[in-house]
Amino acid sequence: MKGIPQNSAPTDYQDRQAIEPVICYPPETLPPVDKKMLQALRNDMTLVDTVTVPPRDARTFTVPQGHIFRIVSSEGSQVGDLNLFNQENLDERFYTGKTRALHGTHLSTYDRMWSNMPYIRPLATISYDTLDWYGFDEFGGSVHDVIGTRCDPYTGYLLNHDHYHYCCHSNLTRAMGQYLDGDYKRAETLVHDVLNVFMCTGFTQDTHQYFMKASPVRPGDYIEFFAEVNLVGALSACPGGDCSTKHSSDEAACYPLVVEIYKTNPAHLANWIPPKINGYNGSHAIDESL
Ligand SMILES: [Zn+2]
Repeated sequence: MKGIPQNSAPTDYQDRQAIEPVICYPPETLPPVDKKMLQALRNDMTLVDTVTVPPRDARTFTVPQGHIFRIVSSEGSQVGDLNLFNQENLDERFYTGKTRALHGTHLSTYDRMWSNMPYIRPLATISYDTLDWYGFDEFGGSVHDVIGTRCDPYTGYLLNHDHYHYCCHSNLTRAMGQYLDGDYKRAETLVHDVLNVFMCTGFTQDTHQYFMKASPVRPGDYIEFFAEVNLVGALSACPGGDCSTKHSSDEAACYPLVVEIYKTNPAHLANWIPPKINGYNGSHAIDESL
């Protein structure tokens, strides 16, 4: 799609390009987020567990359904790569593509993290984001993207011809392998495209290439999630640090990230209906008599 086109524009090209876009997936008919309930839960919760993710490494954590967890910037500006799974079925996991289609390229408060097909339902809902003030900057950049997949050693090898082992993909693979009692092969198949927590990214306005810039996150900032199902989370403290210059190497300054898990008051969940697995009947118009 770049460079000199091989085809000249048709005579009506201006008319074709002038057609106004429509939103692919208007979100108005999605199940509504109960903002009042989330606020009540947030005002009445107790810290029950803390997990520290070391720099250039990853850790897993579990969050019971109805609890809340935070990812907190602790010692310095640092981005994190987050995977989420249904604890009872690790095949159900976060689906960045459909989340992006429903909510846009970057997530913030009251956006949901949807699971993959055939489950497609919310795994978590973002209940608070101290970086919600950032919006979109003059470059088209914003925070918490669902476009950047994760840094990985395969792309690193293609671009740099080296074997770097502390990309987020490898960090998440080691962490999930430990969660699975050493089954690192299965772990790698479960690692999926991430929510890029605190990362500031966008697409360049000329070539529409994926860019990153120094994260605006500072110690004390956090993004907070309501667990819609029993969750396993895996979080990598990216080797890119604040992602201002490089990733996939040991060059950037990196800092720990902290995951805080909060027990909520069940009284506030009395009227809450947990999300069910997707209601599509699964037939795909397949005629099994053939
Ligand atoms: Zn990374």
